[in-house]
Amino acid sequence: MGYRRFFIDPHHLRQAEPFLEGEEARHVLRVLRLGPGDRIALFDDTGWEFTGRITGVHSGRVYYQVLEKKWVPRESPLRITLAVPLIRPQPLEWIYQKGTELGVTAFWLYYSQHSGHNFSDKESSGKQERWKRIITEAAKQCGRNRLPELKAPCSYDQVLEAESSALRIMPYEEENVYTLKEIADRYPEAEHILACVGPEGGFTPEEIRRAREKNFFTPSLGPRTLRAETAALTLIGLVQYLWGDLRKN
Ligand code: SAM
Repeated sequence: MGYRRFFIDPHHLRQAEPFLEGEEARHVLRVLRLGPGDRIALFDDTGWEFTGRITGVHSGRVYYQVLEKKWVPRESPLRITLAVPLIRPQPLEWIYQKGTELGVTAFWLYYSQHSGHNFSDKESSGKQERWKRIITEAAKQCGRNRLPELKAPCSYDQVLEAESSALRIMPYEEENVYTLKEIADRYPEAEHILACVGPEGGFTPEEIRRAREKNFFTPSLGPRTLRAETAALTLIGLVQYLWGDLRKN
C-alpha cells in the first residue's frame, strides 16, 4: 500500500474543493508533516480508493484534489458477524482492532448471564464512538476500504434469533466431540458466518442448550481454555481459513 490512508465521509468528494478536517487533518499536518503537493490515499467505506494531492492548508483544513479513483477489493468473500460478549475494555478494543484486520464484517456486542454490566445509554454511545474510531484506524492501517459495521448492543437471546441464514458457530470449552474442521467438512460452502464467543465466565449449560436448539454448532477450540479475546480471534482466523479468503481455492 503506497500513500498514507485517510477515511472520509462519502459526501466530502461531492464538494468542489474537498478537505480533511479535525483528527485526520491534524494527523496530516502535525504527525506526518505533509503539505501542498504531497499525495495521500483516501477511502469512504464504499470499496473505492482515491489518490489525492494536497492543494492547500487553511484554518486547520487540508484541501486536496482527487487524482485517481480505483476499485481495490480487499474484503473477504465471507460475511462474518462476530457476536462479542461484554468483557474488560482493553481486550474488547483488541477484538475490534484485530477483528477488523482479520476481515470481520460486523461486530455485535451482547450481554449474557456471565458478561459484565449493561452500559447506560450515555455510556454506550460514548463507547460506540470510541470503538468506531478504533475500527476506522484499524481499517486505515490494514488497507480495508469498507468499515465493519458496529451493531447496537443486544441481549444473548437476540443473537440466538438473528441471521438465521448464516452458519452459526459458538465455540464451547466443555465441548470435546467435534471441531471446526468437521463442520467445514460437512458444510464446505458458507457465505455467511454468525460467530459468538462466550464471556470470561463462559456460557451457562442452559445458554448452550438454547443455542444448540437454535442450530448453533458448539465446536471445541482445543484442550486449553482460551481467554474470550483469544478465542474470538482464533475463531475468525480459522473461519477465514476454512471458508474465507485465507483458504486456497
Ligand atoms: N468457562 C470458562 C471459565 O469459566 O473460566 C472460560 C470461558 S472462556 C474465558 C471464554 C469463551 O471462549 C468461552 O465461553 C468459549 O466461547 C471460548 N473458549 C475458550 N476456550 C475454548 C476452547 N478450548 N474451546 C472452545 N471454546 C473456547
